[in-house]
Amino acid sequence: MSSIFTRIIQREIPAAIVYEDDLVIAFLDIAPIHPGHTLVVPKQEVASLTDLPPDTGAHLFRIAQKIANAIRSSSLPCDGINLWLNDGAAAGQEIFHLHLHVIPRIAGDGFGWHRPPHLRTSPTPQELASHAAAIRQALV
Ligand code: 5GP
Repeated sequence: MSSIFTRIIQREIPAAIVYEDDLVIAFLDIAPIHPGHTLVVPKQEVASLTDLPPDTGAHLFRIAQKIANAIRSSSLPCDGINLWLNDGAAAGQEIFHLHLHVIPRIAGDGFGWHRPPHLRTSPTPQELASHAAAIRQALV
């Protein structure tokens, strides 16, 4: 069963498309945070960032930057931009066809990174060094 985004790519269901090339498509989110909220989607249907070919990922970001610039210089209200990617259910992913949100922001709109008090941590320098070492060791 194809993802809903593959069905948009294949024109089986409609979407407000703003950009398309061989590797990616970009269309408006059906439930935008603000007008212009765009999803940049690889045409290859991968669920996770882990499965995304790096060259496609680089292209995805390049197009997201291009769209962010277009939103900023368009007539749509935009005081800032968030690039947002939910990778995994625990990270809030609902559509398991990877995508990058380009979200126009309006000053004082109240949207944002929700960080409850128990997640405002203050690791020691030793803990930070240990966390960095864990990542370095896993880098391939
Ligand atoms: P996620 O939480 O997976 O990062 O975000 C999925 C996004 O896809 C949501 O912002 C949601 O509004 C959007 N979305 C879900 N279904 C459709 C659809 O059929 N068409 C479009 N254009 N966007 C959709």
